Amino acid sequence: MKKIAILGSTGSIGTQTLEIVRDNKEFEVIGLSAGANIKLLERQIREFKPRLAAVWSEEAAHELRLRVKDIPVKIVSGMEGLMELAVLKETSVLVTAIVGMIGIRPTIAAIRMGKDIALANKETLVTAGHIIMPLAREYNVKILPVDSEHSAIFQALQGENRSAVNKIILTASGGPFRGKAKKDLESVTMEDALKHPNWSMGKKITIDSATMVNKGLEVMEAGWLFDIPISDIEVVIHPQSIIHSMVEFVDGAVIAQLGTPDMKLPIQYALFYPDRKPLKGEKVDFYKLGRLTFEKPDYETFEGLQLAIHAGRLGGSMPTVYNAANEIAVSKFLKKEIPFPEIITIIKNCMERHKIIKNPNVNEILETEQATYEMIESR
Ligand code: NDP
Repeated sequence: MKKIAILGSTGSIGTQTLEIVRDNKEFEVIGLSAGANIKLLERQIREFKPRLAAVWSEEAAHELRLRVKDIPVKIVSGMEGLMELAVLKETSVLVTAIVGMIGIRPTIAAIRMGKDIALANKETLVTAGHIIMPLAREYNVKILPVDSEHSAIFQALQGENRSAVNKIILTASGGPFRGKAKKDLESVTMEDALKHPNWSMGKKITIDSATMVNKGLEVMEAGWLFDIPISDIEVVIHPQSIIHSMVEFVDGAVIAQLGTPDMKLPIQYALFYPDRKPLKGEKVDFYKLGRLTFEKPDYETFEGLQLAIHAGRLGGSMPTVYNAANEIAVSKFLKKEIPFPEIITIIKNCMERHKIIKNPNVNEILETEQATYEMIESR
């Protein structure tokens, strides 16, 4: 029996993780957590019977305790609660499906307790990859990628010698605005931006796909996960989202992983690694597909991708600024406070004004996050 805990069990990745758990008898859920969605968390507690559940505010925790008082589950709150969840002694895998840099501390705590990490929370690696990856090596824990592109690369690398990798080819659907010119983006609405052509995901990451900031974050994530310089990561637009990413080796061979766009595959691969198990759902039908196409990204229209590559190359605290500025800008866009192109303007302004801290520790990363938020609010 594999014992797991999930940070962010009520989100898009969290709920799909629980669907896999529901379909497989090999898992036992020890801990669950949500931000504020206690209604769904209550249903999850009743079905999966964890011994601990965490929510963000003490107020929500209090309400949840009343709702589940007939069940033997401990309800905790705040960062302390997330930390308690991360280090539960029975668990062997922590699924980090929480959104934002809030995932850094619990991930570090879990690694220190020798837990493998099924990592969806890319912000953790983007901002603290220089801390997480060496720590994972020191404690001999696996960082199992859940992001579909990184899972594809991870799958393509199985049995291969890492020193034979020439480059990583990260595929991108191009999002709902592929083919548009920069000036066309001035009039797009939130509803347009939330219409992803292939994937159904949480709101924040869907907007990140529309700006291509998500691909930029993934470039930085791939750099850390696979210990490869940013300059050896190439982004290719592949609108069908069937090839989830590829690895080119020194002899010119390219190994790709293909599949229908369904996050359950990479989630399941991370949970069962190194085994493969049957998964319900559509399989790739090549006759129906007909063809797969590829394009070069439009770096001028999707400047957010270019800025991410720049932030990744500069390193230190700059990726934190990029990520934090984007988080606030996206939340403002989702509240209809700013137009779509302003997301990138905000990121750019914050990056220009930031003085890089080399090798920031966790406190410095979180202080940089806060300083970036304040910089935006004081504009
Ligand atoms: P969602 O917004 O759907 O879910 C986020 C989860 O985090 C929810 O369970 C939410 O709880 C919880 N959460 C938010 N704030 C807090 C908080 N302060 N304390 C505790 N829990 C909190 O996000 P996604 O599932 O889309 O994404 C999660 C991560 O996975 C992100 O880093 C994303 O980039 C990455 N990812 C997502 C993919 C996808 O297909 N969705 C693909 C690849 C990577 P509540 O429901 O209560 O708000």
